[in-house]
Amino acid sequence: MGQAVAGPAWPIAEKLRQGSALSAAELEHLVRHRTPELAEYLAEAARAACEAVYGDALFARGLIEISNFCRNDCYYCGIRRGNRSVARYRLAPEEVLACADEGWRAGFRTFVLQGGEDAALTDAWLCAVVGALKAAHPDCAVTLSVGERSPASYRRLRAAGADRYLLRHETATASHYRQLHPRPLTLEARMACLQALREAGFAVGAGFMVGSPGQTAAHLAADLAFVQQFRPEMCGIGPFVPHHATPFAAQPAGSVELTCYLLSIIRLMNPAVLLPATTALEALDPEGRARAVRAGANVVMPNLSPPAVQGSYQLYDNKPAGGEAAQQLWDALALKARGWGKRLVEDRGDPAPAPAGGSSLVGAPVSADALALDAAPVPADAPAPVGGSASVSTGATASIATSAAPSSPDSISPCPKEA
Ligand code: SF4
Repeated sequence: MGQAVAGPAWPIAEKLRQGSALSAAELEHLVRHRTPELAEYLAEAARAACEAVYGDALFARGLIEISNFCRNDCYYCGIRRGNRSVARYRLAPEEVLACADEGWRAGFRTFVLQGGEDAALTDAWLCAVVGALKAAHPDCAVTLSVGERSPASYRRLRAAGADRYLLRHETATASHYRQLHPRPLTLEARMACLQALREAGFAVGAGFMVGSPGQTAAHLAADLAFVQQFRPEMCGIGPFVPHHATPFAAQPAGSVELTCYLLSIIRLMNPAVLLPATTALEALDPEGRARAVRAGANVVMPNLSPPAVQGSYQLYDNKPAGGEAAQQLWDALALKARGWGKRLVEDRGDPAPAPAGGSSLVGAPVSADALALDAAPVPADAPAPVGGSASVSTGATASIATSAAPSSPDSISPCPKEA
């Protein structure tokens, strides 16, 4: 361990390093008083904490972007419903499986099926795809990232064989959530989904943007307090990166340095957390993922989607869409991993049990105390929702085996429908 670092946040950083839970006030102090020296100190401690649990393994997740249709209009998102310039697509199940097959041959043992909140992604469709993928590759884990659904839907997806589910909370402060999302999306609904996912038996991934419009140090402290209490098995955080066709087009991007600092804090809060070096970091800094790994990240998520659609899943500007083959991606990452002091492993990369002596808050349910569920009015500067639905092309039609459970009316929670 390096030398002690002086500064107003030092005692709190040391408390964190020693495994103690921090109060929201302490977390805010830590966020406010970041210095390069403190960041380096925490990064070194975070790397050590990660290695104590996972050794030098770097886990790869093959990302397959299955649909860019979405009924929602999140103000920051490039594939929001109101962006009429997006060429909409939906992969056929056979295409999803072909991507996974190619990824498996390259070495990937986890596949992340990600999409917008697309009404065509019914329980039946998703269960059939998950079931077929698990049948073809029983040594692989399947992660879903398809947004807010009902508890019954989550249970069906879990029963079909999905192992993990990513659903970023984005911000744990209700008034800030309102600045980022138009009604009827609410923080309470998002948190209820995270709780339902845990109850369904998923390994759960939460996460948030760093530097999103309107964000303050207090908001970030609330995010950290939530992560500390809920203890998600995965935590995806990345800098906000503006997209030119959203209401936030002119907003400044988030900070790579602050994102890496927060990664270190989250790693120290929960040494067993699976922490991706997100592609949003790379959109801002070619060395962004390397810096994240140095700060305690241990997961990468290269894009295995068909090259023809990668450019249509632009959540933010400059999102990498290289279209390389899975084997090329794997080989390049293996090389980079060595440079980062890591070893890219052919492994599912399941969450490890938390080491003994950690916080007693493992897997705690979401409590109102952990959340800044304030009742602040909608800020005057919140962008007005963009009305109307996207002009969409016809996506491919599912034609895979139909042995999965039938979809039901509650397969998708109440949300605005495409007009
Ligand atoms: S962030 Fe997700 S839910 Fe929101 S508009 Fe984009 S794809 Fe849809």
